[in-house]
Amino acid sequence: MVLGIALGAFAMQFSSGKELVSDWIKPFGTIFINVLKLLAVPLIIASLIKGVSDLKDLSSLSKLGVRTLTLFVFTTMFSVSVGLFMVNLIKPGNLMSDETRTELMKNYGAIAEDKTLAAESEKTKGPLQMLIDIVPGNIFEAASSNSNMLQVIFFVIFFGIGIILIPEKKSAPVKAFFDAMNEVILKMIDLVMLFAPYGVFALMTALVTEAPGTDIFVALGAYAGTVVLGLLFMLLIFYPLVIKLYTGKSPSFFLKGIAPAQLVAFSTSSSAATLPVTMERVEEHLGVDKQVTSFVCPVGATVNMDGTSLYQAVAAVFIAQAFADDVSLSEQLTIVLTATLASIGSAAVPGAGLLMLVIVLESIGVSPAGLALIFAIDRPLDMVRTTVNVTGDAFCSMVIAKSVGKLGKPHVKEWDDNYHKA
Ligand code: ASP
Repeated sequence: MVLGIALGAFAMQFSSGKELVSDWIKPFGTIFINVLKLLAVPLIIASLIKGVSDLKDLSSLSKLGVRTLTLFVFTTMFSVSVGLFMVNLIKPGNLMSDETRTELMKNYGAIAEDKTLAAESEKTKGPLQMLIDIVPGNIFEAASSNSNMLQVIFFVIFFGIGIILIPEKKSAPVKAFFDAMNEVILKMIDLVMLFAPYGVFALMTALVTEAPGTDIFVALGAYAGTVVLGLLFMLLIFYPLVIKLYTGKSPSFFLKGIAPAQLVAFSTSSSAATLPVTMERVEEHLGVDKQVTSFVCPVGATVNMDGTSLYQAVAAVFIAQAFADDVSLSEQLTIVLTATLASIGSAAVPGAGLLMLVIVLESIGVSPAGLALIFAIDRPLDMVRTTVNVTGDAFCSMVIAKSVGKLGKPHVKEWDDNYHKA
C-alpha cells in the first residue's frame, strides 16, 4: 500500500504519469477486484448451503437468523449515534466559508443532480418493495449479477432448508458436493490472496493519481476529519472493546486477524468484493465456526454497514449545517432511522452510500443538491467506511458465534497445505 501511494505520488510529477498508471498499473488492480468478485457468488452458494444444511433443525436456523439481524440493527443504530454525536460536537458545516460552498455547488452541482435522479427511483418504490426485491424470479438471473447477493442468499437458505427437511440418506450426496465445492473455492481464495499485495499496490497507485487536489482536502478537512474520527472510534475502540468484554479475545487478536480483509476493503471500497477475504479471515483466523461465518458474513456484507450509516449521519448534518439549516432533535432521531435503513439499502459497491444519502437528506428536508458539497472527497471516505463495514461484519460474526457456542480456535490453512503433504 505504501509503495503504491509513493509510486502514485511520484507519477503525478510527470505530465504523462496519470495516463501511464491508468494504462499499465491500474489494470492489475482491476483484475484483482474482478477475481475477488468472481468468487463471491460461488462462495456464498457453496458455503451457505453447507452452513445451513449442517444445522440440525430449523429452530437453530431461526435462532441464528434472529440474533444476527438484531445485532446488525443494533450496531448500525449505535454507529449512526456515534456519527451524530461527533458532527454535533465538531460542527464542521459551520466552518465552511460561503465562497467554498458556492464554488463546490458550481463544480459538482450536475453530479449531485444525477445522483438525486438515480435515488429517486429507489424512493418511488412501495414500502414492501425491499421484500419483493429479495425474492428472485429466476435463480440463474439472480446469480448472474453480484448486486443481487441478497436474492442468491434467499435461494440458498431456502435450498438449505429443503436439505434439512429430507432424510439424511438422500441429502448426503448434495451436502458432500457443496462441502467439497466450498473447499475448492476457499483454496482459490488462498491463491488470490497470494496476488493481493500486487493488486493492492496497483489499486493504491491508481487511486493516488485520481485523487482530488489538496485544496479540496483543506476545504472539506473538518468534515472528512469528523467522519474519519467517528469511523476510527468504531474501529479501534468500540469493536475491540466489546470483543474483549464479550468473547475475552484481545483487541490485537481481533485486529490482526481481520487486517488483510480491512486492507482489501480499503483499497477496493467494496464490501462485496472483499467478502471472500472477510470470510476466510473470520473463519480461519478468528476461529468462528463455518456455520456462523457462512451466514453472518454474506448477509452482513450487504445489510450490515456501520461505516456507511455513520458517514451518512455525519454527511447529512454537515450539509444541513453548511446551508445554515438547524437540525432539530426530532430530525436527528429521523436520521437514526433513515440512515439505518439507507445503509441497509446501500449496495456493497463503491459509492453506494453516497447515493442512498439522498434519502437521509430528504427525510430531514435538506436539498439533495447538497451532495455537491461532499462529492469531491467521497472516494477516500468510502475507503475508510468500507473498512469499517467489513470490520463490523467480522465483529458481528464473533459475537454471534460466541453467543451460540461456536467460537473456537483459529485454524489457518495455507494455500499449499495439501500440496506439501502430497
Ligand atoms: N462502498 C461501501 C461498501 O461496499 C458502501 C458505501 O458506499 O458506503 O461497503
